[in-house]
Amino acid sequence: MTLEISLEPLTRAAAAATPPLLDGRAVAAALRAQLAAAVERLAGRGHRPTLALVRVGDDEASEIYVRFKVRACRELGIRSIHRHFEADVDRDSFLDELDDIVAREDVDGVLVQLPLPPHLPEEEVIERIEPGKDVDGFHPLNLGRLMAGRARLEPCTPRGIMTLLRAADVLPLGRRAVVIGRSRIVGRPMAQMLMRADATVTVCHRHTRDLEAEVRRAEILVVATGVAGLVPGSWIREGAVVIDVGITRLEDGSLGGDVEFERARDRASRITPVPGGVGPMTVATLMENTVRAAATRAGFTPQEPLTIAP
Ligand code: NAD
Repeated sequence: MTLEISLEPLTRAAAAATPPLLDGRAVAAALRAQLAAAVERLAGRGHRPTLALVRVGDDEASEIYVRFKVRACRELGIRSIHRHFEADVDRDSFLDELDDIVAREDVDGVLVQLPLPPHLPEEEVIERIEPGKDVDGFHPLNLGRLMAGRARLEPCTPRGIMTLLRAADVLPLGRRAVVIGRSRIVGRPMAQMLMRADATVTVCHRHTRDLEAEVRRAEILVVATGVAGLVPGSWIREGAVVIDVGITRLEDGSLGGDVEFERARDRASRITPVPGGVGPMTVATLMENTVRAAATRAGFTPQEPLTIAP
């Protein structure tokens, strides 16, 4: 029993609309439309997907992110449960309650919004989430499976970027891909996924000696550092595909990416804006992971519950 969701032709049409801009908002909307149909199919079989969102403390950005995620669930017909803990919550009672949430029969996916206060070590918390409900894809088993080939649930940002590339007909095979940033949630899994897609991948980070030389070689460039304007537009190789993951609040209150957008746009064949590029894809992919987790629990094909074409 499989649950098929074809990304075609909706996401492709969305991606093709505005070159060189790669409009993550439009592609994410197309993906969400496909997911909404899958949610209704699951609900029709008596299984409405349910996502539990856990937040600790009063970090403003975390509060905003959780609000976005709740809204995305609502739009798709996914049920969401939001549990908020005080910043000084006792470690043992937090973990006990998290265990209870994870164990709930009606919960398909569990997400603990990061960062956490120092007395709640992230590694330990993430490992309490059952791998089949780990919709962020951060559990070591899911990350290990990603290394081994393919995980059922993969980190949302890099997976969303792969969806974006596919929608834009960017084939990584044989291309020289450069990933700047090596975090566990973006850079590292991104490099794995690009390698899996047959790109030749270079990973750069804060100790990379000649970043400019690496960037100038990149046919596909993914930048995920959080250093606003780190990559000048003049470094971009003519015709490169540029994916800007970074989000920084600038002095004038606007949001900026890691790439100098205006000049990079003149050289790139495709480029994601900030905001409106990778961010919407991350949230839509979280929804995709939630539907995947729910479909697996509802008895659809465990290996690949959603067949995303092509
Ligand atoms: P992180 O701080 O965990 O990692 C940053 C990485 O950048 C590190 O590997 C570091 O070595 C590298 N780096 C820092 N300065 C550098 C420099 N000068 N030269 C080369 N490399 C450098 O960050 P993260 O969690 O991976 O997030 C990165 C950025 O992406 C942040 O702005 C974050 O807000 C954003 N982000 C966006 C989304 C989204 O959905 N759009 C999702 C996750 C993260």
